[in-house]
Amino acid sequence: MDRADFSSNPDTTVRPPLAPGLYIVATPIGNLEDITLRALRVLRSCDRIACEDTRQTRKLLTHFDIHTPVASCHEHNERERADELIAAMRGGQRVALVSDAGIPGISDPGALLVRAALNAGLRVYPIPGPSAAISALVASGLPTHRFCFHGFLPEKSGARRSALDSIASLLRVEAATGQSAPATLIFYEAPHRILDTLLDMQNLWGDTLEVVVARELTKMHEEFLRGSVATVLQQLAAQERVRGEITLLLSPPQAGATASSVSDDLLAALAHLQSTENITEKDALKQLARHTGRSKSELYREVQRLRASTASRAK
Ligand code: SAM
Repeated sequence: MDRADFSSNPDTTVRPPLAPGLYIVATPIGNLEDITLRALRVLRSCDRIACEDTRQTRKLLTHFDIHTPVASCHEHNERERADELIAAMRGGQRVALVSDAGIPGISDPGALLVRAALNAGLRVYPIPGPSAAISALVASGLPTHRFCFHGFLPEKSGARRSALDSIASLLRVEAATGQSAPATLIFYEAPHRILDTLLDMQNLWGDTLEVVVARELTKMHEEFLRGSVATVLQQLAAQERVRGEITLLLSPPQAGATASSVSDDLLAALAHLQSTENITEKDALKQLARHTGRSKSELYREVQRLRASTASRAK
């Protein structure tokens, strides 16, 4: 196994060769100093590096004088590429997967290849490192004991508003059942959409919603804007143009739950889970049961009752 055992081997330059398998390697989100020693060793000694964008990764490899062959593995070819990489790993190769920045698989390709590798009985090794979501969270000042990462919201305004409505529904279901502590919400957002997204959030949760805009983390112009959504909107609107990479965090919004809204929101919350996580209704009910502390069968009966009453109203 590829494990650092500092107690028995204090000379960290003497290492056994990498074991065959898939290495999920985190790379810097801006500051090249954030690459880990282990990431460099894996990238240097693996047989092949599968990258989201070979040009982007070559810049990183050149900087660290690494000459391992690269192959593209992005959202449009991940499925086909997986077969080829799995065959190589079955033959004993060590393959590293990297994305353009941060941890592969987090709003980046990777999950499909990992699943395929596991299904093929191969080992998958995480090589941890920076991720924008976690870096932003820990410096945000918002609660960290429970958080919910939503990745990117839809680009089109209508779809974005429905996604936010569904999130609000899910929060109301959680709040009304009171089983779990409220979670800080984390989103990735493009600079040209941040104002519209914040406006949608303000409309949904009010002026006092506490937000943090974490921009250009680990880079020269790193910036955190913290405050009410109204204040942060004012600060951003005053800029000539919002630039850079942005992670957006929300303090747990006030859900305003009532007993009746819970029933109304249940179907929306179920639909949201199914579409965002691409899971079956059964699995979505299981997750909802975990979130709310209610039993799966109780939720299922309620969903059936709500559907029956919606159908009879439609007649
Ligand atoms: N896999 C990456 C990770 O682990 O963080 C995320 C990849 S996702 C395609 C890229 C998005 O992450 C950006 O559009 C931005 O929202 C966020 N992001 C990446 N780097 C960032 C940075 N330095 N500061 C703030 N947000 C960042």
